[in-house]
Amino acid sequence: MASGYVKLTTPRSMPSALSLQPDVPLCQSDLPLDRYDEAFRPYAESYLALPDRKAETILPWLDAYVLPAIDHFGNDLLLLAHFYMGGEIVKLVERYGGLVADSYALALEARQRSGASIIVESAVHFMAETAAILAREDQTVWITNPRAGCTMEMMAQAPRVLPIAAQLRARFGADITALSYMNTSGQLKALAGAWGGAVCTSSNAHLIMAQLMRERPGAKVLFLPDEHLGRNTAARLGIQPDEVLRLPDATSLPADWTIDELDSASLERAKVLLWGGWCGVHTVFNVDQVRWWRERGWRVHVHPECPLKVVQAADGSGSTNYLWSLVEDAPAGSRLAIATEGHFVRNAREAAQRRGVEVVHLADIPGTPAPGCGCATMSRNDPPHLAGMLDLLRKGEAPEYHRVLPGDSIDTSTGTLHRMPETDRQACAADARLALERMIEITEAAS
Ligand code: SF4
Repeated sequence: MASGYVKLTTPRSMPSALSLQPDVPLCQSDLPLDRYDEAFRPYAESYLALPDRKAETILPWLDAYVLPAIDHFGNDLLLLAHFYMGGEIVKLVERYGGLVADSYALALEARQRSGASIIVESAVHFMAETAAILAREDQTVWITNPRAGCTMEMMAQAPRVLPIAAQLRARFGADITALSYMNTSGQLKALAGAWGGAVCTSSNAHLIMAQLMRERPGAKVLFLPDEHLGRNTAARLGIQPDEVLRLPDATSLPADWTIDELDSASLERAKVLLWGGWCGVHTVFNVDQVRWWRERGWRVHVHPECPLKVVQAADGSGSTNYLWSLVEDAPAGSRLAIATEGHFVRNAREAAQRRGVEVVHLADIPGTPAPGCGCATMSRNDPPHLAGMLDLLRKGEAPEYHRVLPGDSIDTSTGTLHRMPETDRQACAADARLALERMIEITEAAS
């Protein structure tokens, strides 16, 4: 096909308005061969030998692996991808009948989809782990590339967080609870469950934080791991800045740091304690960029992982779903500058321009360094990983390394997987499920 769009012919759970453009190369660098596990190398070698990265080249190659797996598993197979995934992987997943959504919708889908016994996520590890926590015993969850991770999640690894959480618990007892953002490991979701807290996403953080505070008046909320989402959420609820205390920057937190090093009066006064993690993709935005676009007549909308000042200067802020809906609903002639992950903005721009809506990345200001392509760690889910995962599953040869179980932790730099003993895993899964179910219960009650 030389022009137009590749039609999506398979049924989809939630059409996203994404489409593959045959002439446009995938916005994704090839990974070097040594970044593929041994079982995946033949797929990578064959992919790397393709003459280009255009959809019209890649689709027939991918079909040869994916379609037999779809035929083989039928409705037993559920493909999931997150909106932020790099390159055209979201479009590829959707083309094969998979669901593309934000993390809240993916969590709901994993919980509700009764027919599928094999769930394959082209997402970052914490999203696949969430599906595994919510999965039934007869469901297995697989991730196309276990090294696809979130650098913010890595700033709040359980061995760093849990000792500090224990110190806080020892000091405040039941007068502290935990709110773990979806971008955390299962172990931190379990911490929230064990403390009577909950999980949240960027779309419902305000609902969940408000509910926790209503349930336990006077109790502090430990927000993990994103200081910006935590601060933005507190501000949205009217909590004063001096009632919000950020723990030290997670990237330079000394191994022997204790809560005794915090200013005692600030700690006592704080209603919200923020873990000092942040997203490198969302902290490139600043108020000058917001002003630049607004002065030229653009409306600016930002993700709440951006710093508070950026959120306050913008016309609006909200989750991935909020941003996507905004673009979809914008009337022709609208001009929107969006501050979030680059692949998402690129996909939104393509979908919008067919309707006469202009979308730009907030940091894409002429004369300044170009913003990066997007979240690099998320982009590790690529066509060879999708092809290999489905083909190996069909052949009954899928490596256990790609199976996702509650409590798994993976070092996304080295690829080392740590798997919990069975009893610890069950306890972790039970507490984490409690925190996820609380999020769903509170969110659904409010909608
Ligand atoms: S965009 Fe930021 S929060 Fe999202 S996965 Fe990448 S590092 Fe994590």
